[in-house]
Amino acid sequence: MDTVTIEDKTFNVYMREDEIQSAVKKVASEINERYKGKKPLFLGILNGAFMFAADLLKNINLDCQISFVKVSSYSGTKSTEHINQLIGFDIPLTGRDVIITEDIIDTGLTIEYVLQQLKNMNVASVAVATLLFKPGSFKGTYKIDFIGKSIPNDFIIGYGFDYNGYGRNYKNIYQLKTQLTAFALTGAPGAGKGTQAEILRQKYNIGYISTGDALRSEIAAGTELGKQVSGLINNGQLVPDDVVLSIIVNFMKKAKESGVESVLLDGFPRTLRQAEMLDGVLKKEDVPFVGMINIVVDEQVLADRISKRAEKDHRADDDLETLKKRLDEYHTKTVPIVEYYRRQNKLYEVNGVGAIEDINKEICKIVDEII
Ligand code: 5GP
Repeated sequence: MDTVTIEDKTFNVYMREDEIQSAVKKVASEINERYKGKKPLFLGILNGAFMFAADLLKNINLDCQISFVKVSSYSGTKSTEHINQLIGFDIPLTGRDVIITEDIIDTGLTIEYVLQQLKNMNVASVAVATLLFKPGSFKGTYKIDFIGKSIPNDFIIGYGFDYNGYGRNYKNIYQLKTQLTAFALTGAPGAGKGTQAEILRQKYNIGYISTGDALRSEIAAGTELGKQVSGLINNGQLVPDDVVLSIIVNFMKKAKESGVESVLLDGFPRTLRQAEMLDGVLKKEDVPFVGMINIVVDEQVLADRISKRAEKDHRADDDLETLKKRLDEYHTKTVPIVEYYRRQNKLYEVNGVGAIEDINKEICKIVDEII
């Protein structure tokens, strides 16, 4: 089976039986080598490690014993970072060479806890063996002695690993299929786009790209692209759409590896042509564009907001003039994009007049639905 579904989640095959068995054998042969002439005690961590512990022991050629403790720190697909010991250490460990046997080390908190418990038990030695290790989320300070395979941070099931208790019986290991998506936030100048984007970035596991910032950081990093862009800017030319798009493609590639759920595009697309080109690159990268969120504020309200602020600062004409220019630009360039996404049923409009938190609640409702 290449794909399995448990409740609402679909998982793709990640490690097949033969690959799992070679990882098990690798751990076993390192243990056989290190413990020659000794009689270690394997301490399996339930529930997940039962499958690995069973296969591991079949490959151990030492005189050994095994015992299990039950420790749990997971709920659904996320570590709760809260350890509950369910079945205690009632086995005599004094003078033993203990090999803690775990299916997977993620944050590392579970083993940290087990190591703490072992501290006062007068064991001869302690080592840690795990089938899988997620270096990307490990927070422990201890050494992991035996690792079958290091894997990315994605959630896995099968071969002892569960999702809500199911999936432990599968022979293969499967990885949660996550589809990276992209969405954009737009609105007339003064509509509060920057403020809302900032709140979304704090609230969700999303990547964020402002094309302006990205261009500046390419230049700062001195990349090929950066050199090309700074040349154009120095000659007073506009950065062409395809250059901006290649920045977006680079960003999407990085976002896929970083494990974010979605990417928020800020300041892009700005023209209809860019929107069409964006569709093309996102299709190629297999990142569906799921929505354009438009924060709608009546122009009179915008003008009032600006003139009130201006009155206070005694700069009325200047600011109103600037607002008018920016609004004109918004009308000629951005409004056609809004219509473009409306035709595709990907436009979401939010009333941008009211308290920041209320507007954010409305935006979050949409984000929860689309990403
Ligand atoms: P840690 O304390 O190292 O964060 O987590 C270790 C425990 O979390 C493992 O024993 C396992 O039960 C659970 N765990 C960590 N990552 C995964 C995963 O990707 N899938 C499943 N099913 N459980 C996991």
